[in-house]
This record gives sequence, C-alpha cells and structure tokens, in this order.
Amino acid sequence: MTACSTPAYTGRFAPTPSGHLHFGSLVAALASYLDARSVGGRWLLRMEDLDPPREMPGAQAAILDALERYGFEWDGELVRQSDRHDAYAHVLDRLFSQGLAYACTCSRKQLEGYNGIYPGFCRNAGHSIENAAIRLRVPELQYAFKDRVQEEFRQHLGREVGDFVIRRRDGLYAYQLAVVLDDAWQGVTDIVRGADLLDSTPRQLYMQELLGLSQPRYLHVPLIVQPDGHKLGKSYRSPPLTADQATPLLLRALRTLGQKTDAGLEHASPREILNWGIQHWNADLIPRTLTLAEAQLR
Ligand code: GLU
Ligand code: ZN
Repeated sequence: MTACSTPAYTGRFAPTPSGHLHFGSLVAALASYLDARSVGGRWLLRMEDLDPPREMPGAQAAILDALERYGFEWDGELVRQSDRHDAYAHVLDRLFSQGLAYACTCSRKQLEGYNGIYPGFCRNAGHSIENAAIRLRVPELQYAFKDRVQEEFRQHLGREVGDFVIRRRDGLYAYQLAVVLDDAWQGVTDIVRGADLLDSTPRQLYMQELLGLSQPRYLHVPLIVQPDGHKLGKSYRSPPLTADQATPLLLRALRTLGQKTDAGLEHASPREILNWGIQHWNADLIPRTLTLAEAQLR
C-alpha cells in the first residue's frame, strides 16, 4: 500500500463520556485498535457527546488521558458529535420532509406496556416537527447480517423494534442517527464494539440502506458483565482504568479476547504490549459468546 492510497480499513473507537472507561471499554478499544493496526488500517477516535445532561464532568479528558496512558494512538483529530449537529439536522429534516420520519407526541405513560416497541400511534397524525420526538418509520422486514464473531444475527424491525426515535423531544439527537452518519462521514469500514450494540445493528443497517451509505463490516466483542449478569458501568462496581494498572489490564484484555500472551510481557510498557498485539492479532480466537463474566477472566 502506498502512502497516498485510501486505506482499505478504517476503524474507530467511539466512547460516550457518561463515565470513565472501564475494563469492558478497554476490551472493545483494544479489539478495534488491533484489528485496524494489524492490517495497516486507520483508527479514529470519536467522542459520542450527544447527551449533555448525562455527561459526567471531566469524563472527556479522563477518557483521552486513559487512552494515551494505555498507549493508544489515533489518526487525525478527535471528532466530537457535539460539533456535528448541523449534519444531523440536515438529514433529519430531509427524512421528515420525505415522510420517512414523523413527529411523535406520545407521553411516556401512553407508551407503557408495549415492551419498548412503539405501537405507531402518531404514524399518520401529521404532527409538526417542533416540540416532538422524531421517529423513523421501519419496514415490516427482517434485517440480517453476518457478524465476524457473533455469526448470523437477525431482527425483524417492525415486530422487534418498531419506529424508533432519531431526535428526542428535548431536541437531542439519538445515538442511532448520529452513529450511522458519522461512521459514513469518517469513512469507517469496520466497526468493532461491544455486543450490547448487536441489536442496534439492524436499525443502523436500515438507515444505511435508506440513506444510500455503504455498509461496514461488524465485529461485536463479548460484553464483560458482573457475576449477576449486569453490564460493567458506572452504576455497578467498575473501577476506572488507572495508569499504574495499564500493563496487567492490557494483558488481561488480550487474554479476554482469546489471544495468547507471552510471559515476558509482564514487564513491558503499554506501547510494547500493543505492538506485540498488533503482530500477533487473530480475531478468529475471540470467544464466540455475547457475554463474559468478569470474575471468570484470567
Ligand atoms: N458510544 C457507544 C458506547 O459507548 C458506542 C457506539 C458504537 O461503537 O457504535 O457504548
Ligand atoms: Zn406518538
């Protein structure tokens, strides 16, 4: 590959600054980093700061600091979703004016008892775009794709998801809309992320189809869970990634991803471990499971 050709692989890590990075985030970041770098690909960093009320003060800086201390190097400038509102608004207006999306004024109370699947009350109501949630109409179709780790995944959008929100009533853009637009805009070819997002993927495939965007490859790594099955996150015990733990936690993340590690790496620097990981990366060794209990990890 020459220096000026378009890389065949562009990956990314897209943390949400609602809290610190934890071990589960490290596993996802490491998998996406090694998968990209082992084929000479680009690796981008995007801050998914769409929801200021849920942002933890200082989280953005802490995330960048942790990534640097763990040896990660990203290409180009950090992209913030908070700088991308014009792009989201443009597409949202288009979807709305084409009738592909519609305004919904249902209260939370009205939607109780439908298991999160929108019953379509406002589908033909013709509410105006202001002061309403905006929902994308979904087709009565099953979407399927082959994940590199989780194999075949299928979901019937009409029956299992329903028309979903792309802009909230309070004006905030939804993750589902932003992620699809940003991955396309940034030229992402390969999405490597946690398996909690597997069931968001069919919605994203539908939007890519609707907007004429190319479809990336997907690899969903096992989600690290507490012994009781809860996702690691700020509401459950999950310590932030501290700098002094970088070497052991990177090695543990490598083993979690099914990679064998050399005994000699125990005294290596984060950068040396990442370079070793790039040389030895084999995505076929990632456990083909949706979750791994943290307590069982070596
Ligand atoms: N921002 C999302 C998260 O932190 C990840 C989005 C993605 O990788 O598609 O869970
Ligand atoms: Zn409604």
